[in-house]
Amino acid sequence: MHEPPLYRNAWVEIDLGALSFNLRQLRSRTRPETLFMAVIKADAYGHGAVAIARAALAAGANWLGVATTEEAIELRAAGIEHPIMILGQPPRTALPDIIDLDITPLVTDPDFVYDLAGAAQLVGKRAGYHLKINTGMNRLGIRPNEAIAVLRELSELPHAVLEGVATHFATADVEGDWEASNQLHLFAETIAEIRSAGIDPGIVHAANSAATILMSDSHFDMVRCGIALYGLHPSDNTRSHITLKPVMSVYARATWVHNIAMGEGVSYGLTWHAEIPCAIVTLPLGYADGVPRIASGTLEFLHDGRHFEQVGRICMDQLMVRAMQNDRLEPGATFVMIGEDHGATISMDEVAEKAKTINYEIACALGRRLDRIYI
Ligand SMILES: *Cc1c(COP(=O)(O)O)cnc(C)c1O
Repeated sequence: MHEPPLYRNAWVEIDLGALSFNLRQLRSRTRPETLFMAVIKADAYGHGAVAIARAALAAGANWLGVATTEEAIELRAAGIEHPIMILGQPPRTALPDIIDLDITPLVTDPDFVYDLAGAAQLVGKRAGYHLKINTGMNRLGIRPNEAIAVLRELSELPHAVLEGVATHFATADVEGDWEASNQLHLFAETIAEIRSAGIDPGIVHAANSAATILMSDSHFDMVRCGIALYGLHPSDNTRSHITLKPVMSVYARATWVHNIAMGEGVSYGLTWHAEIPCAIVTLPLGYADGVPRIASGTLEFLHDGRHFEQVGRICMDQLMVRAMQNDRLEPGATFVMIGEDHGATISMDEVAEKAKTINYEIACALGRRLDRIYI
């Protein structure tokens, strides 16, 4: 653990060495020439987009993937010149900026390409785009059997250039899943048809983290990895296939410690009562920091390698942990919510399970307000 930031007694530590390790682990699964997109949408799943982008590029990533125009602009404003893809279509009003900043959209609607070409022509540029094919996820993309006609039509536009074709899996995290291999076959077939129609699909890509780890025939020309970069498994199925190191740890320092008598209640609603006299440690970490309120009364925290129970409802900015009076804890004592402490660990997955959600959501939420230390 490193020194916390100046202004708060709660913070996350981001281990950039672990990030590089994870990226190299993922890359070692692909052929050397396969391009690697580091997916850093949602502020790099709560880890901080600019710092993660720089570390990922230094470790060999070729592309950066984001979800929104603002996320792409933030990277360009930080001086990052590598290719950036918006993994979806921004509104038309974003076109002048995405063309100016050379940001590549992943397009679903062929009409969007007309607007892209029009906006590019206005500034005397040619704008690149990738086309999304819906092979079964049913979220975004044109149908496979429409691809050739659409691409033929769009190839007439001199100011828009097809630079890639992509799809996305719905069930890649289930090992040997029939639906995922169906999607893969349909996509591979569509790409072959596009090629035999004399159209160059450019960079072909489909794999998220799970597919990168579990389906080596889904790598094509580029993989798009998010969750595994952060040392988190997309599902239990990938655990036996790859070693990853968690990148984010979460810490808080006690702001108050006091003793309570048997029978006294704690926090809003007084939903928890002390069965024996004990000590209550208050930590300045709450649901506005991304600690899931639904997990109230089930979380644990580490201090000196020991587990302490969180009790009562999680508040917006604070929560309470139960200790014993003879633990003699004092304000300033550091607790670990996620991470390692003297050989004991609490994982992001344990917290996600208690909150009835997935590690992705916990990581994004913890990135909202906590200060970050990069190590
Ligand atoms: C978020 C996203 C990814 C990355 O998924 P992970 O499961 O985090 O690896 C890849 N492709 C697209 C289109 C995405 O939206």
